[in-house]
Amino acid sequence: VSPRFSTALVHHPCVDRHGAIYTTSITNLDVHDLARSSRTYGCDAFYVVTPVTAQREMGERILSYWQDEGVKRNPDRQNALKIAHVVAGVDDAVAMEREASAEKIAPLLVVTSARTDHGRPMATCAELRIALQSERRDALVLFGTGYGLAPVVMQRADIVLAPLTGQAPDGYNHLSVRSAAAILLDRLRG
Ligand code: SAM
Repeated sequence: VSPRFSTALVHHPCVDRHGAIYTTSITNLDVHDLARSSRTYGCDAFYVVTPVTAQREMGERILSYWQDEGVKRNPDRQNALKIAHVVAGVDDAVAMEREASAEKIAPLLVVTSARTDHGRPMATCAELRIALQSERRDALVLFGTGYGLAPVVMQRADIVLAPLTGQAPDGYNHLSVRSAAAILLDRLRG
């Protein structure tokens, strides 16, 4: 059995521009783009995480539209969205991954950020890729929204991925979550 590899788009707990804990809203574009990227790179599941009931209902509506009505127009999208699940919290995604795993063990929790001021040691994509292959561990990779994943999530993670950086003279590296997820998935699974 291959180890599992899954992704999650986290809308809570995130931070706002002042660093306060914040819950963001689901966007149609993020759900579609991360579902397609996750599907393309062979992820077993893609979780949309929000504790807000009305937001989860909206997430379910986005998914069910493409699984029912939208399939008539775009079968590829249904194909991508079939790995997507809407859940209330990161713990629910972890529990579902544990349940789905061969040995009922929680996945390695991997977090992503553009920042380095969280004080945690970081792994490069190459290091994580090799570790997952050699240790045959399941992994769940979290992506943030708003101004990023809250410190409580960054601190509980098993692995913090090093930020993607480019050649901006001032070090600017704040990608959209859609771009960051696609690049990181290609490095981890391409
Ligand atoms: N409203 C924003 C948008 O347009 O997507 C949400 C920004 S949210 C902070 C972006 C998320 O993408 C981060 O939490 C992280 O998961 C990922 N991300 C962005 N830039 C990154 C980078 N340079 N390295 C690694 N991950 C990055």
